Amino acid sequence: MDFSPSEHHELLRKSVRDFARSEVLPHAKKWDEEERFPKEIVPKLAELGLLGIRIPEEYGGSGMDVTSYAICVEEIARVDGSLALTVASHNGLGTGHILSFGSEAIKKKYLPKAASGEWLAAWALTEPGSGSDSAGLRTTARRDASSGKWIINGTKMFITQGSVGGFCVVLARTNPDVAKHKGITAFVVEHGTKGFTASKHLEKLGCRSSDTVELTFDEVVVGDEQRVGEVDHGFLDTMQILDRGRISIAAMALGLGYGALDMAVTYAKDRKQFNKPIAEFQAIQWMLADCKTELDASHLLTYRAAWLADQGRPFTKEASMAKLFASEAATRACNKSLQIHGGYGYTREFAVERHLRDVKICEIGEGTSEVQRIVIAKQLLLG
Ligand SMILES: Cc1cc2nc3c(=O)[nH]c(=O)nc-3n(C[C@H](O)[C@H](O)[C@H](O)COP(=O)(O)OP(=O)(O)OC[C@H]3O[C@@H](n4cnc5c(N)ncnc54)[C@H](O)[C@@H]3O)c2cc1C
Repeated sequence: MDFSPSEHHELLRKSVRDFARSEVLPHAKKWDEEERFPKEIVPKLAELGLLGIRIPEEYGGSGMDVTSYAICVEEIARVDGSLALTVASHNGLGTGHILSFGSEAIKKKYLPKAASGEWLAAWALTEPGSGSDSAGLRTTARRDASSGKWIINGTKMFITQGSVGGFCVVLARTNPDVAKHKGITAFVVEHGTKGFTASKHLEKLGCRSSDTVELTFDEVVVGDEQRVGEVDHGFLDTMQILDRGRISIAAMALGLGYGALDMAVTYAKDRKQFNKPIAEFQAIQWMLADCKTELDASHLLTYRAAWLADQGRPFTKEASMAKLFASEAATRACNKSLQIHGGYGYTREFAVERHLRDVKICEIGEGTSEVQRIVIAKQLLLG
């Protein structure tokens, strides 16, 4: 198994890193403070191919592999967790679902607009009453017998790009009479469709410039051509979408962790106490050593999962292991980096506090750490 990066991957990493440093880093603090989604960055993301990472060139995308997807998310997260979350969810969830399971007509209609940044994608699974138990969702889609159209009703919670996106892939119950995970179907709903509203903007601990909203579907009518995948197969498809998405959340954690570690190294060499740089104290060195070791282990887990996905081999367990370990390791790394910064780390003068606030979502979104442990154990016991 050789999942070391190719020259092509290294070049991609460098170009996204340069972009993140020059176009994102100078604004990230302001965007966070304003809690505003930075629409002005969207054309630049599109120009670099970051909004169509996995979309084939025939639909206007960059046609890159899963490893590249992880690299892009990781490099943006080194400077801004919010934007990394946007790139991860737009590529992996909303457009990912259409790419993997949509009809040719749906792909032609939505993927070019997603890749060009004209329309950002949202993906709505979670509801106020169903998060980890996502198959317990209550949003319904009933089919009108005479018109053949679907009528969607329900509320979705915590939806990224929910108010700034151009369309949303929504999971709804289409058959209440079968096991709960077997009666769910996915549909694309466009912004501006009657009855589809972003009913509430959510204020968050971190990733504050990423758009997170509650969505309401009130008698929303869509044609059958807006269905993504087979009827009643949406939840089973969703499990595959989440497998790949988890690799991107592991990559996001990695980027935030490495970014915080870089800051800690710089600060430890610069800051003097007791007439010497604090980097000379063993207590500081051990924190740095632990962070680097755990982040590098996370890196190996993350890119192993990406490599397996690129080889077309099973990677469910490996994606969950990567997300579980990387998100917890990166949270520890951000926390230790802040500790190394002392009181200054606790102020907003240094970006490390933003990294610590942003990284926590990696232990929650696309399945909590507890859910990842359930997935890993289940796979282990099945095997
Ligand atoms: C910023 C942000 C962005 C998000 N973006 C999206 C998005 O774009 N689309 C979308 O659909 N969703 C999105 N989510 C939702 C996210 O995926 C859920 O928050 C997550 O899956 C957890 O669900 P919950 O919040 O309802 O927590 P709950 O499921 O209520 O969990 C609460 C606690 O109980 C634990 N728990 C639950 N069940 C078990 C169990 N069986 N065993 C052990 N412990 C358990 C959990 O691990 C957690 O610690 C987002 C969330 C946030 C915060």
